[in-house]
Amino acid sequence: MEDVVVIGAGLSGLTAAQRLHREGYRVVVIDKSRGLGGRLATRRLGSIAIDHGCRYLQPFADPVASPLPALLAAEVLRPWRPESFELSSDNALTAVPPQVLYGAPQGMSAVAKTLAVDLTVQRHWLATALQPLPRGWRIEGQFLGEAQPTPPETFEARAVIVAIPAPQAIALIGTAAQHHPELRELCHQLQDVTFEAVITVMAGYGNQAARLPNQQGTEGWMVASDTHPTLRWLALDSSKRTTPQDSVVVLHSSAAFAAEVLEQSDLEPAGKTLLTAAASLGDWLSSPQWMQVHRWRYGFVRRALGRDILSHAAIPTLVGCGDWCQGGNAEGAIAAGNRAAVATARALG
Ligand SMILES: Cc1cc2nc3c(=O)[nH]c(=O)nc-3n(C[C@H](O)[C@H](O)[C@H](O)COP(=O)(O)OP(=O)(O)OC[C@H]3O[C@@H](n4cnc5c(N)ncnc54)[C@H](O)[C@@H]3O)c2cc1C
Repeated sequence: MEDVVVIGAGLSGLTAAQRLHREGYRVVVIDKSRGLGGRLATRRLGSIAIDHGCRYLQPFADPVASPLPALLAAEVLRPWRPESFELSSDNALTAVPPQVLYGAPQGMSAVAKTLAVDLTVQRHWLATALQPLPRGWRIEGQFLGEAQPTPPETFEARAVIVAIPAPQAIALIGTAAQHHPELRELCHQLQDVTFEAVITVMAGYGNQAARLPNQQGTEGWMVASDTHPTLRWLALDSSKRTTPQDSVVVLHSSAAFAAEVLEQSDLEPAGKTLLTAAASLGDWLSSPQWMQVHRWRYGFVRRALGRDILSHAAIPTLVGCGDWCQGGNAEGAIAAGNRAAVATARALG
């Protein structure tokens, strides 16, 4: 039996797992995906890395909990200084002062790989149910990969940390609530958490300059909007790389646009619509050499839980964490992961 199984290898789960591992607990992390990092995601097309999830990290409000100094020292992150603009609902572009941003030259998933060092991670394993044992939990699930020999059909641990988006956590914690009715209260709390979907376009423009009309410098650019009906954010993603091979733009849709097209089986037309909307910034944007589209069903937190972690005093060996606890961003995910680790260590004694 493990001491702790962490379900979800995103920023929150990896932070919790790494902290418990360093304190000497036996920890296994499981994730349904092939890659590590969850929304901290990098797609690789040949030798091109593209951040289609989390774009950058920013200075932490709580510097004590910040992993930034270590990630900068290890050269996993470095300052990213795109020229910054704001886009109005009627396509007017205004230059805004640059913020302090940190990008990952190898792609943001390098941050997850750094956090996962020395951890035991079972990938491609979907957790579907939590069964209480006399002194812990059995985690039931399904291996989605093809490795031989196949990994175990269940994991057992003295404590479980559920580090997956709140809407997915409801179903999982609901299986535990069938045995511990107290946990129904946690499911009710999770129902108050809401997410916005995002449609993300990755588009390549070969070796053309990929500049904006108002741009002064040559390094890179980033455009954000809170009011545009279709576009939330776009940037020259390739300007984060040390030696970019292609000009690559990443574009994130508005929540309203994503809600409209979310269930479409083919997202290619939605991707083209987004690039056509972006062409108000430069005609070239609507004619990439290649394009890929990604659907984030649980992209950004709209309404957070408003608590440090999800927990019930009567069942302290089951804890929930994620960006949906507080903050709704990378810093919030890390803070909740740290607090989940502290609560779990206390529960294990
Ligand atoms: C497009 C986009 C851009 C963003 N940009 C930024 C940014 O620039 N800066 C910033 O600070 N934040 C940004 N964010 C938010 C940031 O990425 C998230 O806040 C953070 O990564 C969330 O981490 P997490 O660990 O809470 O959840 P996740 O990253 O969602 O991790 C959850 C993990 O759980 C796994 N999982 C789910 N269900 C199961 C199951 N049943 N069994 C096993 N595994 C399961 C998933 O595969 C996933 O790996 C962005 C988000 C998106 C979508």
